[in-house]
Amino acid sequence: MTRDDELLGRVLGPAGPEIGCEDCFDKLDRYVEIEVAGGDPDTAVPGMREHLEGCPACLEEHDSLVALLRAR
Ligand SMILES: [Zn+2]
Repeated sequence: MTRDDELLGRVLGPAGPEIGCEDCFDKLDRYVEIEVAGGDPDTAVPGMREHLEGCPACLEEHDSLVALLRAR
């Protein structure tokens, strides 16, 4: 996916299997909980991994959530 496609996708909302930032934010808690628990978050929340790979802001949010949960 090119940068232009990603920007366009943010304006138009999710059109494919990849989720948008809003969806990502909604589901990130669940995704990270499953990931930290050793489950399969990509099956539980399809499109999240693809989104994180293309969205540094959400990836950073993801990483800090993982760190938070692992610190408990
Ligand atoms: Zn995002």
